[in-house]
This record gives sequence, C-alpha cells and structure tokens, in this order.
Amino acid sequence: MKRATALAWILLLLYSAAALAEPIEDEYLALRLKYRNFLADVGAQKKRANWDKFIVGFANFTEKHSTHPRADDALFLAGDAQERLARWTTGEAGFREALKSYDALARVYADSNLADDALWRAGQILELKLNSAAEAYLLYRTIVNGYPDSDMFAKAKDGMERLSTFAPAETAPPAEPATTPATPAEPSMTTPVPPNEPLPPAEPGPSPAPVAAVEPEPKAAPPTFEEMTPRPAAPPPETAAPTAPAPAAAGVNRLTRLAVWSLDGRAFLTFYLDAPTKTEILIRPTASETTEFCLTLPSVETAGDFSLPPPVAPLTTLSVESVDGRLLVRMQAGALQGYSINQFDSPSRLVLELHAAPVEQSVARPSPPNRVVVLDPGHGGEDLGAHNRLLVEKDLVLNLAKKVRDRLREQPGVIVLLTRENDLFLPLDTRFGLANDIQATAFVSLHVNASPRPESNGVESYLYESAGTPAEDDTVRFENESGQNHNNYTYPYISPADRVLLRDESRRLAERLQPRLLAGARQSRARAANRGIKSAPLLVLAGARVPAVLVEIGFATNPEEAKLLSQDAYLDQLADGLADGIRRYLDDAAAGGE
Ligand SMILES: [Zn+2]
Repeated sequence: MKRATALAWILLLLYSAAALAEPIEDEYLALRLKYRNFLADVGAQKKRANWDKFIVGFANFTEKHSTHPRADDALFLAGDAQERLARWTTGEAGFREALKSYDALARVYADSNLADDALWRAGQILELKLNSAAEAYLLYRTIVNGYPDSDMFAKAKDGMERLSTFAPAETAPPAEPATTPATPAEPSMTTPVPPNEPLPPAEPGPSPAPVAAVEPEPKAAPPTFEEMTPRPAAPPPETAAPTAPAPAAAGVNRLTRLAVWSLDGRAFLTFYLDAPTKTEILIRPTASETTEFCLTLPSVETAGDFSLPPPVAPLTTLSVESVDGRLLVRMQAGALQGYSINQFDSPSRLVLELHAAPVEQSVARPSPPNRVVVLDPGHGGEDLGAHNRLLVEKDLVLNLAKKVRDRLREQPGVIVLLTRENDLFLPLDTRFGLANDIQATAFVSLHVNASPRPESNGVESYLYESAGTPAEDDTVRFENESGQNHNNYTYPYISPADRVLLRDESRRLAERLQPRLLAGARQSRARAANRGIKSAPLLVLAGARVPAVLVEIGFATNPEEAKLLSQDAYLDQLADGLADGIRRYLDDAAAGGE
C-alpha cells in the first residue's frame, strides 16, 4: 500500500461528509471479517469448500459492484485466498488463478493503493512458485518505475538486483524515483505499435511492407505480412489446425513449451527453445481495436509433446504453425501500446511482452466510503481477562461492545464492526489488522482494569506511545500479556511522521471518549475516578494505522465497581457514554476537525 495514499484515505475518511450506510458494504465487511477469522482457524482451512466460499464471495462482489469503493479490496482478497489455497493444495493451477486476480486489480484499478501490492505478490508468485524469474523481474521493474512512493519500492528494487541476470539486455538501471513518471506503463521500454493504417486491398496489389522487424534475417528480406498471414486472419485457437509435432533430431531447434501469462495489462509469451534463435516480428493494426502479429522463428520446429496454451488478454487469438522450416506464431490482440521481445539463457527462451493500450480511465471511487467504527472486545476464548466471582472481562466487554454497536447503528452512514462476535480467542494483530484492512475511521478496544490496590477505581483511555506509561505498569502488562506469543505478531511499518499524525487523531478520539465514558459511569457512581488519558506501549494499539484508543471501563478489583459492572443497567450507561463519545468524534471529523 502506498503510504501517502493510505494516509490520504485515512484523512478523507475522517473528513468526509456522512454518507448513507449501504447494506451491501455492511455485508462485504462482514464477509471480510469472517475471512480474517477463517485465516486464524487451521481446522476450517482444511476444507476446500470453505476456501471456495470466500474466493467466490470476493470475486462476485467485485464483479457485481465494480465501482464500489471496496471493489479493489475484494479483488485483492480473492487473489489472497487463491494464493493461500494454492499453498495448501491447488499448487500451480491455483497460483495462476491468483495471478489473474492480481493482474486484474493492477490493470483495472491501477490507481488503487493495492495495485503495487498486487504487482509485488504477482512477482513473488512468478519468481518463487512458477519459476518465471524473467517475468518477475519485469513486474518488479514496473513497481520501481511506476510506484516510487510504494512501500513495496525497496523490496521491488532488491528483487530487480536479485534477478538482474534475467534483465532484458536493453534495460536501463532503475531510475531514481524523483525523476520517474508516476505511471506503471513503460512505453520507453517497448516498441510502439505504429498508428493504424487502412487495410490493404484484398485483391492482388502491392504488398504492404512490414511495419516492424526485430533482428531480421540477414540473408533474405523478411516475407511480407500477406505472405505469412493469409487472409482471413488466423482462426481462433479452438479451431486452429493441430500443430505438426516434429521428432527431436540433431541440429533441429525445437520449441518445447510456450507459457502464456497475463499481468498488469500485458501478455507475456515465453517460448522455451533448445537454443537461441533469430526472430522476426510483423505487426499490422487491422482496425482501431485489434492488432495482428506474426512472430517468425526461423529453423524452429515444435517438439513432439508441444501443446498450445489458450490466449490471454490482451491476446484474442494464438496459433502456431510450421511453414517451410519456419515456425509462425500468429496472434491477434486488442488495442496495443507496444511490445518488446527479449532472449534469455538457461533455459534458452524468448519472452514476447505485449502491452495493452492503457485503459481510458481507471474506475474512480464514486463516493466517499461510509465511516466504519471497529469495536474490539478484549480477550476471548481461553483468555478470560480480568475475572472474579462477579465478572469475567471477556464476556462483559463483548456484551458492552454489542450495546455500543446497537446505539451507533442508529446513526446513518456509520458502520460498526466487532473484531469478535462470540467467545473466541483472537491474536492482537488480528484485532488491529481488521481496522487497518478496512481503513476504519476509529478503532476502540474495550477492557476491564485490575490492580493489586482494591481502592483503585474509575475509567481511563489509552493512546499508543512507545514511551509513556512504562511497560511494567500493572494495566499495560496485564493487557499486553493477555495474548500468547505476542512477539510473533505482524506489525505494519508506520513511519514516524504517520505515527505523529495517528497519535494526534487518536488523542482527539480519546478526548471525545473519556469525558462521555466518565459521565456514563458517574450516573451510577458519582465518585468514579477520572483517571484521564494516558499513553502506553499497548500492543493492540501499536499496529493500528487508524485512530485507535483502548478504554478501561472500570476495575474488577474494586468491590463497588465490580458489583456495578456485573449489572446490565450499568453497562447500558457506559454504552451510552461510549457511543456518545464516538459519535462526537465522527461528527467532529466529518465537520473537518475541531
Ligand atoms: Zn483487558
């Protein structure tokens, strides 16, 4: 995700006017939440049908709601699920499915802040899973040249260095980001497709000259397009004449395999050969929307077990034919911006790369998304949190979260999600991860306090701060140790500048929450202590890339407060206060700040 873009979206979310809550978005976010929990459930992952449910669900969402602000997100998750499933069971075929999803995302939603992530993941699949290092190199290059602000930039640059032996010969060293145009297309790397020309007459007449030729055979003028491509154009592959298998013979250069990928609006055709060969390529635009190609491989035959793959976008037809000792590869493609052809060694192969003409305009986000509040009931499952004979924290905060949700949902344009709906253990990174993934407007984690001093009482709100209250403090230690293996959590990178911005926004959220929560508590107990807003290295807040606050609603260790907390009427009062505070924060944000 591009850092700057992500931040811009947080701000846009914060300052956007209230939009009507759409049930469809609610449904989508629920599916997303289920997927997140599914990824923590190894047992459920063993059933193939469960994976398909999510893959189909995400893909259908993008298909049905292609202009919805979450359409790119859904497509990315379809690819994510396909990729994970491929690791489990489906293997190469599954990785190809994931490639298709990532490709569609990078192409159709090129402005999406997930486009660079999709390119990176596609590159990783090509490099590590499909043994297509040359193709991976080209995708890493696309990130480096097209997404200089991406947080994938450094990794992509490393990838280019790692795979530098696969770089096409004419590749210039990666340009410095400041001077690189911020577009993923690289027209300078490819030969432009010539402008359209009127079709030559079908009757005998002057043959059109070849419009482009790469490494023409030195001894004979290349044949004209008409000679190589009898009209009408090559039939589609399903009706193409079967290729003539040739037995392997000494001195014969064989095409053993043709691999076809489509990524980022490009088709990659990799021709695996026994030995390097010269090539000729003839291109003729036939109409505004199509281009005819003929690639000639002199002195090449297909191997006996060669099989022709189906064409991929922007290709519409693909056929291979032996004619007079040459191999003719005929293709038709949609509107093209350009092409390139590169030779690689070990194994010997040619990579033909066809660039589709850029999509007129990538799908714009039509309206500001709804404001999404993520409520995080602490603990769950075997992790009880604070507990005694009067209360169990994990149950109490879940009950409270549902009460707050009911109150917030009365407001149009507000979507409320709970990190857990039932008694389930969730790792801390799943909690803030959900808020990050959906770019929530606010993340509020709900907890009950505990102290060795029974007189300690009242409510407090925490922001994340690596300094602040020391990690040895009872409350901090207690909440941080509530999960197991917290050192294994995955934390996103948050730059110091973003950290400052997030802390300021989180403070505004806490400033709305703390007084309202206190007012709720004081309805039943006027002496409830105002413990104020504190900063601490709380892990559940550390990875949040959205405004995030943890509230402690009272002490399980204070007899008076514990008794109140065990009563539903008191929780209603606290829920009133919390919902009111969150609402005020959302209203302030919508109004453009304080
Ligand atoms: Zn807790």
